[in-house]
Amino acid sequence: MATATETTRGFTGVRCVHCGDVDTLAVKLDDVSTLVCRECSEDVTVDELLAVVAKLQRLVKWLNTAPAIED
Ligand SMILES: [Zn+2]
Repeated sequence: MATATETTRGFTGVRCVHCGDVDTLAVKLDDVSTLVCRECSEDVTVDELLAVVAKLQRLVKWLNTAPAIED
């Protein structure tokens, strides 16, 4: 597992959408709209991040509306 370096700033605790490793995403200097994972070398696009956010929003919505389980 890769670890954050001393030069890593902000956005800690974010997982790669491909390998799931934490704190391995870096901005591509030639295309700042895309990240690259330092662990699996896959590109991570804004659309892929938005898809993860959408899944989490659906989960939170379900959790907030799910009926309580009675004993
Ligand atoms: Zn990765």
